[in-house]
Amino acid sequence: MVSEKKDVKKRVQELRDLINYHNYRYYVLDSPEISDAEYDELVKELIKLEEAHPELITPDSPTQRIGAPPAEGFTPVRHRARMFSLQDAFGLEELEAFFKRLSRELPNEKFEYVCELKIDGAAVALNYEKGIYVRGATRGDGEIGEDITPNIKTIKSVPLKLLLEKPPEFLEVRGEAYLSKEQFEKINQERSEEGLPLFANPRNAAAGSLRQLDPKITASRELAVIIHGLGFISGEAPKTHFEALQFLERAGFKITPFVKKAVTTEEVFDFCREWERKRDKLPFEIDGVVIKVNSIEQQRRLGETSKAPRWAIAYKFPPEEKTTKVLNIDVNVGRTGALTPVAILEPVKVAGSTVSRATLHNEDEMRRKDIRIGDYVIVRKAGDVIPEIVAPIPSRRTGKEKIYQFPKKCPVCGSDVVRPEGEAVARCTGGISCPAQVFEHLLHWGRRGTMDIEGLGPEVVKDLLEKNLIKNVADLYYLTKEDLLKVEHFADKAAENLYQAIQKSKNRPLSKLLFALGIRHVGSHLASVLAKHFSSIDKLSKAKFEELQGIPEVGPKVAESITTFFKQKHNLEVINRLKKAGVKMEAVMVAPTFQKLAGLTFVVTGTLEKFTREEVKSKIEDLGGRVASSVSKKTDYVIVGENPGSKLDKARELGVKIINENDFINLLER
Ligand code: NAD
Repeated sequence: MVSEKKDVKKRVQELRDLINYHNYRYYVLDSPEISDAEYDELVKELIKLEEAHPELITPDSPTQRIGAPPAEGFTPVRHRARMFSLQDAFGLEELEAFFKRLSRELPNEKFEYVCELKIDGAAVALNYEKGIYVRGATRGDGEIGEDITPNIKTIKSVPLKLLLEKPPEFLEVRGEAYLSKEQFEKINQERSEEGLPLFANPRNAAAGSLRQLDPKITASRELAVIIHGLGFISGEAPKTHFEALQFLERAGFKITPFVKKAVTTEEVFDFCREWERKRDKLPFEIDGVVIKVNSIEQQRRLGETSKAPRWAIAYKFPPEEKTTKVLNIDVNVGRTGALTPVAILEPVKVAGSTVSRATLHNEDEMRRKDIRIGDYVIVRKAGDVIPEIVAPIPSRRTGKEKIYQFPKKCPVCGSDVVRPEGEAVARCTGGISCPAQVFEHLLHWGRRGTMDIEGLGPEVVKDLLEKNLIKNVADLYYLTKEDLLKVEHFADKAAENLYQAIQKSKNRPLSKLLFALGIRHVGSHLASVLAKHFSSIDKLSKAKFEELQGIPEVGPKVAESITTFFKQKHNLEVINRLKKAGVKMEAVMVAPTFQKLAGLTFVVTGTLEKFTREEVKSKIEDLGGRVASSVSKKTDYVIVGENPGSKLDKARELGVKIINENDFINLLER
């Protein structure tokens, strides 16, 4: 028993030291070493131990304190009213418990709630005297913050004079300074170019940008401030939080967007679920939803703990960032032979799924981030986006980490790896004979925009390769129905369908075949250009570098890549076998009179109902038209679908003709 008590005491001290250390890194240095979720785990463990052993609670325990005291170099500012943190609810059950606590505190009372997005930024307090901005401060330890008056002045969304006719004598508002996701990426990009350490997330970048001794740096970061509450107001105060927000909006502040007043707890849950689902669509990061009791009078009676108000709670979304270790670095060989370094990670759960690999994009990117085997790294996963490594944590290095050496031979086929000058990507020279590329190449071959072979999905391709029925795309055309019956789960019908789909694909237009070959730099558009110019594979394969370069839209890189492709013996073999099998290698000439859309340029924006982007493009190009990616004065038509983007605005601005999907169909049928 005695020793158990001693163990608890030891662990409590350990946790406090750890949390204090991480608080310092987070609040003072703006450079955390562990993810928020891991930090929250430490705090949770400490709270649990303190709850079980209240005699161990001390006023300086991090569970009793907010943030960190002001850092050196800043003038301390005492807040008019204390700036609190928020209690957290991890999961809807903990939110339910919060509602129960409210009913216990104020029995038989009805509550109204205000739900707001919890923007992941840095807390600020702004002071106004007679409607004029006089001071800005960070939260600091809640009582004393850091004076950042000139820095805040540089932020455009902060009004320097309130829009009120009769402003209060004194007003203190609370808000969040934050960076858009785009701005965050931009800052990190610039930092990496300058060789500076990267910010781990937009919150740390915002805090770091705000807490600058030189306001010019703050100005360059393009922060924004949203206001989510009143700290202090002289004279008559609003009766509800919602009224306070309306007042603040009238005064000229940017307030938290998408605020919702809720009467039932179910409405609150719905709001939380909705934003958990939609958070990726926002231009800034949110880490949860804040729920506040609306009535100020009820807020007053509920009061506060030493750290947070009892009338509000932050519903925190599941973490999207974790720390883990790089066990190894491997390379992946893609369809075009690109070698992509991949970090093999100690498996870690991020945003609901286990992550054990993360792409490092390319050699330069890996070097830029300086990720080494054995490093601890921060892994991020936003919604359905693939996991990525944000940054390594150099302070956790032991000296045993290894810098990864990029391979000189393809790890799959053993061919040489080349990295053309000026390019970031290293490639295997094995072309379509490299097994890694063959799998991807077969998938590419079967897709809609290329040879369009229905039923040639990844499982089937894998099985055909594993059973040695094919080795490259040409073999597809020599498969019999009996061969196809050997495919896993294939009965008569499936085998027949695939067989027919393969036969049908022999007659695709030359442009599709050219795109399907997977020649580096030859995408669907260039494939059309080449098909029009050469009208057969034979002619294209004999074209000299100079002739290719003479074609508008074909630069030296493309010309080089095409001539190299047709120099490879194994590529020519595959093409010959395709030809022998009856795959059409010439363009069918369409008489110009039938080319209804000749000379017209189209731009598509938004989602169409009846066509995929690829289909629209094919349709237009088959009829002699051109599809451009951006709107200019030269655009003839902008086809607008569901949820159009900025191209629509541009079209309006330039007076370009705007049509919908039906107009387009009419145009085709005219
Ligand atoms: P918090 O950030 O979770 O919540 C309180 C803050 O939320 C307030 O100060 C306020 O500025 C902000 N906020 C945003 N939108 C709001 C809105 N609509 N209404 C009201 N407030 C709103 O709490 P905290 O005490 O500032 O920090 C704790 C957080 O910091 C935790 O998520 C923790 O994981 C993280 N942290 C991480 C480390 C680390 O090492 N990774 C260290 C310390 C703290």
